[in-house]
Amino acid sequence: MIIIHKARFLTEYLAKQRNKGLSIGFVPTMGALHGAHISLVNQSAKECDITVCSIFVNPTQFNDPSDYNKYPVTLESDIRMLAASQASVLYVPTASEVYTDGTSALEHYDLGYLDALLEGKFRPGHFQGVCQVMSRLLKTVDPEKLFMGQKDYQQCMVIKWLLTQLHLKALLVTCPTVRESDGLAMSSRNMRLNAEQRGRAPLIFRVLTGMKNRLAPGKLGDLKQEAIDELNNGGFDVEYVEIANATTLQPCSDWDGREPLVALTAAYLGEVRLIDNMLLNN
Ligand code: AMP
Repeated sequence: MIIIHKARFLTEYLAKQRNKGLSIGFVPTMGALHGAHISLVNQSAKECDITVCSIFVNPTQFNDPSDYNKYPVTLESDIRMLAASQASVLYVPTASEVYTDGTSALEHYDLGYLDALLEGKFRPGHFQGVCQVMSRLLKTVDPEKLFMGQKDYQQCMVIKWLLTQLHLKALLVTCPTVRESDGLAMSSRNMRLNAEQRGRAPLIFRVLTGMKNRLAPGKLGDLKQEAIDELNNGGFDVEYVEIANATTLQPCSDWDGREPLVALTAAYLGEVRLIDNMLLNN
């Protein structure tokens, strides 16, 4: 694995690989790597000749400055994990390398309702930041395939929209959520949980599984409210639990028994904000 810090060097290196007829897969991350990141890398290596993984904690996607300041940085162990994986290139840019003109007057993306509900509603500006960084990274890497996790369900929808808007060739491959053995979705934020909170955290998975098992045609209000109550009673501070159309993400309150549904939640354990989701009828 080679490590590159400069966009220009990465573009030059990848142009050479492309000229040899090799395909490029891209796994963007914010570091503090865990098994789920590595599973994306390995999926890319299965489908593409060259796998580029990036590590960049993007300041523009944090609506909460303390969340940004506390975001774990573990570059040395990240490099060790990636070196033992099937990654070909690690790209670690600085902020000025990504945002060459600074971050004070960045472009706006018209994401419509995707920016106004769930993560868009509770993290104002978050998806603007995601689009701002991804448009730049994608321009630098110009991959054939982009590998992202279902764990960030709404983000995948935003990125699909972005790829179309920017007329980029990259195909988005949405990889399944990777979980710990007790069901907790792997996340860089999990390392900020104390032992007591870590013990409580898998309740999210059990609640989502319970929703999936109890889903029945008709009104969905009770199913949602029960999930909120179970999480709040289990020590969480729930921001939202929603049941939505799995394709459009429009909330669904009355299910016809056929519409594809996804349950999504964001909830705090102490200061740590966890998100998760589950397809309910696939
Ligand atoms: P992050 O470093 O948290 O920005 O995540 C980088 C990529 O890894 C994103 O595409 C995430 O959706 C994906 N990812 C993070 N956690 C998981 C997980 N538990 N399962 C699958 N993908 C994940």
